[in-house]
Amino acid sequence: MGAAVFHDPPVGDYESETEWAIRARNVMLSDGNLATGLDVVIVGEVITDIVESGSGRVPVGRTVDWPQGTLIPGLIDSHTHLTFSADSQVVRHVTSEPPAEQVARALGNAQRALVRGVTTVVDCGGRIDVLLAVRQASQAGTITSPHVLVSGAPITTTAGHCHWLGGIADTTDEVVRLARQLTQDGVDFIKVMLTGGNITAGSNPLQLQYPEHTMMALGAECSRLGKPLAVHAHTEFAVELAARAGATVIVHASCQDSDGALELSATTLEALTLSGATVDPTITVGALENFRDAPSGATRRHQQRRDMLPLFSRMDDAGVILLAGTDAGVPGVPHGNVAQAMVALHHEVGLTRSDALLSGTGRPAAVFGIADQVGSIRPGMQADLVLLDADLEEDITALHRPDRVWVAGRMTVLGGRLQTERREAATVPAR
Ligand SMILES: [Zn+2]
Repeated sequence: MGAAVFHDPPVGDYESETEWAIRARNVMLSDGNLATGLDVVIVGEVITDIVESGSGRVPVGRTVDWPQGTLIPGLIDSHTHLTFSADSQVVRHVTSEPPAEQVARALGNAQRALVRGVTTVVDCGGRIDVLLAVRQASQAGTITSPHVLVSGAPITTTAGHCHWLGGIADTTDEVVRLARQLTQDGVDFIKVMLTGGNITAGSNPLQLQYPEHTMMALGAECSRLGKPLAVHAHTEFAVELAARAGATVIVHASCQDSDGALELSATTLEALTLSGATVDPTITVGALENFRDAPSGATRRHQQRRDMLPLFSRMDDAGVILLAGTDAGVPGVPHGNVAQAMVALHHEVGLTRSDALLSGTGRPAAVFGIADQVGSIRPGMQADLVLLDADLEEDITALHRPDRVWVAGRMTVLGGRLQTERREAATVPAR
């Protein structure tokens, strides 16, 4: 596959002021549809134009021509844990390893995602000192990396889910104050654990961690601070409360009752649609493809995932926006699988192809307030681009075959391999 036509001089130098272009069989447009016969024009870090192929605008010698491929925006994984190792030792690693080691693991995981076409990773929880250092390394260009957005430590209760990441706040005042502190420290969004979770001993996913008035106060405060609010919720009650409180994205949205049975009432569905909250069903958790490396408990999680699929289909039917977050890094969920989530949303939940493509590009960009920079192919956007070695029109699993990946106009992946030589002498800051 991929009978690409390459020319001299090599194109895609992010420091160049020269116009260059990419021509593929298909280009994904901002509405998620695919179009043929277009060249995407790039100067420096930015997409400057989209023109008809054959317009002569960019000379052949400065055009990457890939007649069988598809050009899509760089993928966005709206839910990762870069410092997590995806195995049973996650908690031990992040509680016992020195920060520099965690920074190194996070950057390695970010690069794993980059090779799979992910140009923006949203970290939904880790140590804040570590994650700010990771983001700093990414922004400074000291290492080849996707863009990184961070929440720092999720807000949780004493002894609550992920308390070992350090974001503990119990009362309403403490929760509001911590949201302000995280904002002052420079996080991109706020994450809160509204229910317990599965990887913290003693935490109960079927119980609320905060009462309604605390959640409402946090929602109001995030709105005032201008920060997106991601709410971890495993029960139906928590999903409905999160929607009413102004959650930007509801994570997992497992919709269990207090016994663990699945339920999605008309009231909850209405709260979701009225609020405009998006849902990240973390559909890669428990996915069969991940079983090879999965720890114990995988069978139960797979069963639960299968049972939840019809609920997510109903959300989609009702107009709730679903995102292709992965929860990468938790036990059994490797980094870089956002394409797997997008394909599953199409094949198993029933999203249209364009909605599935948007679930890992334009929609998470909008949720996290970066849609004016990344997430779609149009003039003025950063040249975060993925050239797939296959025709996406024929087969959505072409998403699994990125050949080239550009971040802000710089080629970071070629032939499916990370290009690091230009920056390998860089050092990684840690504090
Ligand atoms: Zn998570």
